[in-house]
Amino acid sequence: MERKVFAPLPINDQTCGWTQALSSRQANASLHGEHAADFVIVGAGYTGLSAARKFAELNPNAKIIIIEAQRAGEGASSRNSGYLVDSTLNDGHMSDTGLQQYREKYAFNKAGVDCVTQLVTEQQIDCDWEASGKFHATAVPAHEAKLQRFSELLQELELEHSLLGGAELSQRLGTDYYTQALWTAGGIMLQPAKLARAYIDILPANVTLYENSPVLTSRKQGADFLVSTPMGQVKTPQLLMAVNGFMASAGLKRQRAFPLTLSASMTRPLTDTEYQAMGSPKAWGLLSAQAMGATVRLTHDKRIMVRNTAEVWPSMNMSADHLLQRKVKHLKGLKRRFPQLGDDLFDSCWSGITCISGNNAQVFDRLESKLLVAGCYNGGGIGLATLFGEQMAYMASGQMTDTIAMIQARPKPSPLPLQPILSWGVRLRLIRDRYIARNEN
Ligand SMILES: Cc1cc2nc3c(=O)[nH]c(=O)nc-3n(C[C@H](O)[C@H](O)[C@H](O)COP(=O)(O)OP(=O)(O)OC[C@H]3O[C@@H](n4cnc5c(N)ncnc54)[C@H](O)[C@@H]3O)c2cc1C
Repeated sequence: MERKVFAPLPINDQTCGWTQALSSRQANASLHGEHAADFVIVGAGYTGLSAARKFAELNPNAKIIIIEAQRAGEGASSRNSGYLVDSTLNDGHMSDTGLQQYREKYAFNKAGVDCVTQLVTEQQIDCDWEASGKFHATAVPAHEAKLQRFSELLQELELEHSLLGGAELSQRLGTDYYTQALWTAGGIMLQPAKLARAYIDILPANVTLYENSPVLTSRKQGADFLVSTPMGQVKTPQLLMAVNGFMASAGLKRQRAFPLTLSASMTRPLTDTEYQAMGSPKAWGLLSAQAMGATVRLTHDKRIMVRNTAEVWPSMNMSADHLLQRKVKHLKGLKRRFPQLGDDLFDSCWSGITCISGNNAQVFDRLESKLLVAGCYNGGGIGLATLFGEQMAYMASGQMTDTIAMIQARPKPSPLPLQPILSWGVRLRLIRDRYIARNEN
């Protein structure tokens, strides 16, 4: 393996509403001096933390090190919208092959949901878990056919769902913005930062987590890997790269996985008057029927979250000034749905980096005999990152599982064009999708 130089590095804004809602946590030490470990993991999101926990359980005498550039868990794993989902919106393939492919994809996502469910139950994790399902909705009657076709597909697979419209839908959501929605029973809404924090809290004693320690380079030294941060180095026979959106920055999967920068805002809790004016609906989570339409949530503590931007952003994280501009877009999205609300309700706005591939496939690979890489969950990473992390731990322990076999049988990310064609191609696609979703963001 040639020497890899990591750039750009993550620099998180400190304005994520989910993280701000948590109590503050003392940072772990950063990496200083020379160390050695049996297993080193770069990146402390759901993937890295799950891999470390499971590897430590499987190998109680092993020494495991996680190296995190920023604060652990505060990348995409705390910044996401908190939808843990089994079914994904589909245009309705009704051919036998299409149905079979969807069934397999569903089983795969469900394995991720089950993995998180088991962990949350066993460890009694408090992450505002709400098994209330999710909505796929449209505000444009011409887009309703897509929901109808999706309903037929779910019917075929015997997955519980219902189509709602009119007064019933307005009452359920507290807005009459949407013309139709498809509700599926399978979705779980949660507080992502609480889940990430819990993954840190339950790390076994044989795991050492270093924070604020960006990995700058990694290279092979004999049979080992040597991973370097500004102040320290770790030698290990086995390395897992769990950096997700920073995969290409780490020189990995450059032509297969691509980072996108998303942004979201969240309101303060609504007052009783504001909430009652909406008809006091129960908490809900809604995804647009269009790729670039807004994701909107009403949380159990009566906050509204709006996420309606996705961009190619070479420096990855956004500055405070850029976030202010995004907040204007989030406010437009909020006011479209809830025109009665004031203009100053957002008390947080943040950006986060997600990783996509051209064909919605994930990365779960052994690049060299002892170099592992997992990530690229295409927006569905709460379940899959937890699952992939655990299964990487089995792989690193030399154990084969049925789940590894299932993951390995899934499609691999398709090759992407070279830069700069790739970035421009993605930008054009986003412009097209934004235009289609112009009334839904
Ligand atoms: C705004 C947003 C909304 C989303 N909504 C959803 C959703 O509703 N449901 C869902 O399932 N998924 C969603 N996702 C995707 C989901 O958050 C991710 O797929 C998941 O968090 C990936 O976990 P991870 O551990 O692989 O990556 P991350 O959580 O990104 O962790 C990677 C870690 O690597 C660290 N790192 C990077 N480079 C280095 C380096 N050089 N040295 C050391 N550390 C490094 C980063 O700081 C980071 O902490 C969303 C993502 C975003 C951004």
